[in-house]
Amino acid sequence: SPNCDHLKALVRTVPDFPKPGILFYDITTLLKDKYGFASLIDALAEHYIGRDIDLVLGIEARGFIFGPALAYRLNAGFVPVRKPRKLPAPVARVTYDLEYGTDTLEIHQDAIEPGQRVIIVDDLLATGGTMEATIKLVRQLGGEIAGLGFALELDFLKGRSRFPDFDVFSLLHYD
Ligand code: 5GP
Repeated sequence: SPNCDHLKALVRTVPDFPKPGILFYDITTLLKDKYGFASLIDALAEHYIGRDIDLVLGIEARGFIFGPALAYRLNAGFVPVRKPRKLPAPVARVTYDLEYGTDTLEIHQDAIEPGQRVIIVDDLLATGGTMEATIKLVRQLGGEIAGLGFALELDFLKGRSRFPDFDVFSLLHYD
């Protein structure tokens, strides 16, 4: 749609970041635009309004930028999913494979009541490894996953094929 083209124009692409050969999609240029930021939150909220969302889970770090704004719009709570050793109270933990090595994510054990309806949000869906790990955390805590939300999706990486049983919603798609 023309609206999405306008938002896409606000996303900056940076070649060779964080390493040579990677084209990085930078959303800071979208976030600092007052029309862009409002449109991003409104469009995401529109998808989830009326779906009885209890909690928005944001993945560190860029999921912390728009997850709370979305939670506010949905009258939902916000829960941070964090890198290791940041959370003060007892945590559930998941370790997952990267291209080189592993990474770990943590959530407070009492962050989700069993049966609460949660959506998980991040800025960008690439291979889906980060989201898949976060889904495991939510399952450990007994949450019901009502959706997976992203600002951007790199369609050619087919990350959404990892989540055939979930509602996967991304605002901006890239081939
Ligand atoms: P995945 O686990 O789906 O392969 O990678 C997605 C994760 O890496 C997300 O947490 C996302 O923030 C980060 N990421 C990977 N590539 C990019 C990119 O080009 N731009 C941004 N903003 N984040 C990226």
